[in-house]
Amino acid sequence: MDFDVVIVGGGLVGASLALSLKESGLRLALVEAKHHVHETEGWDSRIYAISPGSAAFLGNGWEGMDHERVAPIREMRIYGDDASSELRFSSDEAGLPELAHIVESGNLLHSLMREIRHQENLELICPATCIEMQWSEKGIELELDRGKLCARLIVGADGAKSWLRSQAGFEANPRSYRQTAIVANFECGKPHRDTAWQWFRKDGILALLPMPGNRVSLVWSVWTEKVENLISSPNFGELVEEASGRRLGELKLITQPQGFPLRLMRLESIVKPRIALIGDAAHNTHPLAGQGVNLGFRDARALSKVLSDRGPQKDCGDYPLLRRFDRARREDILSMQTTTDLLQKLFNNDIPGLSFVRNLGLRMVEGQGWIKNALIQHALA
Ligand SMILES: Cc1cc2nc3c(=O)[nH]c(=O)nc-3n(C[C@H](O)[C@H](O)[C@H](O)COP(=O)(O)OP(=O)(O)OC[C@H]3O[C@@H](n4cnc5c(N)ncnc54)[C@H](O)[C@@H]3O)c2cc1C
Repeated sequence: MDFDVVIVGGGLVGASLALSLKESGLRLALVEAKHHVHETEGWDSRIYAISPGSAAFLGNGWEGMDHERVAPIREMRIYGDDASSELRFSSDEAGLPELAHIVESGNLLHSLMREIRHQENLELICPATCIEMQWSEKGIELELDRGKLCARLIVGADGAKSWLRSQAGFEANPRSYRQTAIVANFECGKPHRDTAWQWFRKDGILALLPMPGNRVSLVWSVWTEKVENLISSPNFGELVEEASGRRLGELKLITQPQGFPLRLMRLESIVKPRIALIGDAAHNTHPLAGQGVNLGFRDARALSKVLSDRGPQKDCGDYPLLRRFDRARREDILSMQTTTDLLQKLFNNDIPGLSFVRNLGLRMVEGQGWIKNALIQHALA
């Protein structure tokens, strides 16, 4: 089977690229390892804060979600590790209806999959496992457990442990944060007021994000050696209440807590001849800014633009073309990784005097409208 572009990995980022290339005239295949099952009972503990820029890029994939299960973020409150440091952002101040939306991973993925299943220029190959990849004169041959594909361009959207990245010989050298993010959903005793709450504590970074009704979703990055004790504690809800200064009253656990080990991964380049990486296959970032999947959508948006603008005669696996995509993404990825890495180091650190500096930093940012404005503009992209 011959294709122009084969996307390996049908998570949110791979599926978003496939949808964005609907009108490109390119013949596409999307290879996904797992059969997609959509659970509608209960609440998904994998949630994302999706920026307005990402929502606009997702188009029908965004519109087609069950919007009863989507919650707006209208305010953000960020606290340092002393009582007086607070940073606030509000949609009113920014002149916007909301700063972001909280969506469940399953809700968005289901909507994207429903859209691309009917896409005329796309073949969905799922479930399928990749076995081997070989460069040929025409393009790249990809051997699956159910046949062979030939493509001019292969896009790796197969997540943090990307098979394609290692097959193609990208040097990854990830650095572990020695932290794990615990995610879980709660019913809260006090109204969340469409606010995303975040505490930068010495022992970890904790966020409670608003969900529909009286629910909130937790993302708590803690030192990995403490995770087992926390997750298995019968008083997990009380521990979260205490760590969040009881801002949201009593917290009743409604999903089983899950842990995600955190790491930083940076690549010299996210392309090779006939290969491009996007999403977590291309970069891993600390989730403290809630921007990982938004970065991935921006990769997909940039790659889609380069491919759509290339002119009908040009080979879509052309290396200079892919280098253009690589250059277009470099600054955004680097600045997000550098900022989150710096904040993680600044706050999860016991060096004497550092606590004073970081809390002063938060108060200073709060007092400077222009810095806050610049931060908001970045988060909206
Ligand atoms: C705790 C936590 C909280 C987070 N919160 C946020 C947030 O609020 N906002 C935000 O923007 N980001 C957030 N992130 C980051 C976000 O989760 C990731 O950036 C995002 O899920 C990456 O999507 P992806 O599609 O690139 O990869 P994945 O979601 O990992 O998808 C990869 C897909 O590829 C498939 N696959 C894997 N290998 C193969 C193969 N060999 N062949 C075929 N298919 C394959 C998998 O089955 C999967 O479907 C958070 C991360 C963590 C850990």
